[in-house]
Amino acid sequence: MTSQRPTLVLGTRNRKKGMELAELFEPLGLTVRTLADVDNPIEVREDGETFAANAALKAIGQARHLDAWVLGEDSGLKVDALGGAPGIYSARFSGLKATDLSNNRLLLEKLAATPSEQRSAHYVCHMTLSDPRGEIRAEADGICRGRIIGEPRGGHGFGYDPLFEVVEYHQTFGQLGPRAKAVLSHRSRAARRLIPQLIALLDSGQWR
Ligand code: IMP
Repeated sequence: MTSQRPTLVLGTRNRKKGMELAELFEPLGLTVRTLADVDNPIEVREDGETFAANAALKAIGQARHLDAWVLGEDSGLKVDALGGAPGIYSARFSGLKATDLSNNRLLLEKLAATPSEQRSAHYVCHMTLSDPRGEIRAEADGICRGRIIGEPRGGHGFGYDPLFEVVEYHQTFGQLGPRAKAVLSHRSRAARRLIPQLIALLDSGQWR
């Protein structure tokens, strides 16, 4: 049986990010699919110079190729003491073969001499929705402020979460887990700004 609900394809190959995004958008009554569920997605070159540019590249290229509504999401960590690095290079901070572990190790190394009061940082997320023709139909961003602690804490989340402390809670996203991220994270904040635009598109009947 095919679904009558409009479909949203999440233009990411990051499984954990995809799960967070699916949880944010499924309550809208959309059928949410990831690149793992579609046939032959393309490999999008993320060579934009901003989160917004990369989110648009991920959305537009994939949407035209798949003939589908695609959400492009680009996110990363900006550390004040490192002049905003790793920023758009967050996924590949420690090189082409980077893993979350190697990225976290490098981050700790670079901040080894930085006192705790100077370890402020924030996550950034930009979301762009493209229609099947490659037209951008909705866009939003969100940030989440915190600080980088001296050693990893907690096993939830992904990426820099074990090192990213939400200051008000004195706990990292690695410790706080998915419920806290669904409310406090850069991704959830961007989603809350995007959702009214998605509802307007759904109500207008343009997205079926
Ligand atoms: P992207 O998939 O190209 O947007 O790269 C995102 C990268 O930024 C991830 O691989 C992580 O290193 C980092 N990042 C983005 N969002 C989060 C998050 O919610 N928690 C931890 N790390 C994140």
